Amino acid sequence: VSVTFVDVHTHIFPPEIIAERDCFFKNEPGFSSIYANFSAHMVDGSGLVQAMDKGGIDISWVLGFPWIGIENARRHNNYLVQAVADSKGRLRGLACVHPQMKWSLSEAERSFSLGLSGLGELAFYGSDLMLDSLTPLCCLCAEANKPLLLHTNEPVGHYYSGKTPMTLNALYTLIKMHPMTKLVLAHMAGGLFFYSLLKKEIASFLTNVWLDSAAVPFLYKPQIYRFATDLLGVDKILLGTDYPLLNVERYCRELVLPEVSLSSDDLKMIMGGTAKTIIP
Ligand SMILES: [Zn+2]
Repeated sequence: VSVTFVDVHTHIFPPEIIAERDCFFKNEPGFSSIYANFSAHMVDGSGLVQAMDKGGIDISWVLGFPWIGIENARRHNNYLVQAVADSKGRLRGLACVHPQMKWSLSEAERSFSLGLSGLGELAFYGSDLMLDSLTPLCCLCAEANKPLLLHTNEPVGHYYSGKTPMTLNALYTLIKMHPMTKLVLAHMAGGLFFYSLLKKEIASFLTNVWLDSAAVPFLYKPQIYRFATDLLGVDKILLGTDYPLLNVERYCRELVLPEVSLSSDDLKMIMGGTAKTIIP
């Protein structure tokens, strides 16, 4: 039986942005807040495919960045189209737009017309989730039957670069507003899954919601995989590495720990089986 390993959360950048990242900091507070630190690595499409070969990953979803400037967004989304085309079937591209920019819907539509497979990683680095600005993008994804991958993070605990002032209430309201949109919530949905234990509502609204594991080794004890599986079902958890932040090996080591106690069938679903049903 052949198993396809899928990494749903990786970031690639055009080579010219990697070569001169400091030229792109101006008027881009979200980008500079993460990448002004030169120890935050950046990789292009071919660098990612090399890492996939080393780590045994068959397919990766490549995510853009929520640029403020339309020319940066277009450049990045065009690069994703090119990287997918050059990858011989290894990459699936998710276009990125900043939801608050007035051109976000038209750029998302343009990217879909060029063959990209969804939107992501959408993020609000300086505020809570802005639900009104996400609505047209959620509707577009629902109509196109393409996923929207959203940055989420836990609303409590220590601060780190890239952590946003997001609330679980805004996230849950978004989910309720868009039951037909396939939402992939990065970084274990900021812990929202715990509330699926509530007797009313929450669990029934999570039909089209999945969590990805991006950055889990930095954020959570490995038992989070066990708890999320018990609370939501194993078919709701997707392997995402946030490469080049972390290598897939780091995740594999934790996923197979005895205290996580996932069966080999569970692991196959998390490591690609379910992702293949969202983007073939
Ligand atoms: Zn993120």
